[in-house]
Amino acid sequence: MLTNCPDCGYLLRGLPATHACPECGYAYTADMEIAGVRRARLGLWVLGLIIVWRTLAVVALSVERRWANTAFEAAVLAVLVLGWGAWRRRGRSRAIVLTREHLIERADGVERQRVPRSAIWSVEWQLSTGDIVMRDRDGTRLLAVSGMGRAAGKATSAIQAWLATKGT
Ligand SMILES: [Zn+2]
Repeated sequence: MLTNCPDCGYLLRGLPATHACPECGYAYTADMEIAGVRRARLGLWVLGLIIVWRTLAVVALSVERRWANTAFEAAVLAVLVLGWGAWRRRGRSRAIVLTREHLIERADGVERQRVPRSAIWSVEWQLSTGDIVMRDRDGTRLLAVSGMGRAAGKATSAIQAWLATKGT
């Protein structure tokens, strides 16, 4: 059973086990669980950007003139680094949702892939690419989920545990 909406993270406490998310409208069911989720945190990056910029602007104004250039350069560098981080994360939200019968990959609130559990034989986390790769009984690649970032390892374990309960 879900505690948070896979798409927007809204807390579903107190709501029926099968319902639609009041925040984004995602229709969820009682047999769903989230294997892994990665949310776009653009807001946090923008907030960080503003705080760093303001702090360094204040520092630049208060320090001696000979340090003003250094403070300004540090501010520009910090803004570039944070801006790059924000650009990389823009609009990238991913979730792997498991139901009794299917594995569903959602990206930015849209379903991208849906694979029957019976077709998935193995799952591995490829360190080189960061992809979570699922294979069928013959070892053929069924699907790969990318962009899970740091959540990839945990998601792989959750999918393995889910596969292990097969047939029960
Ligand atoms: Zn939602």
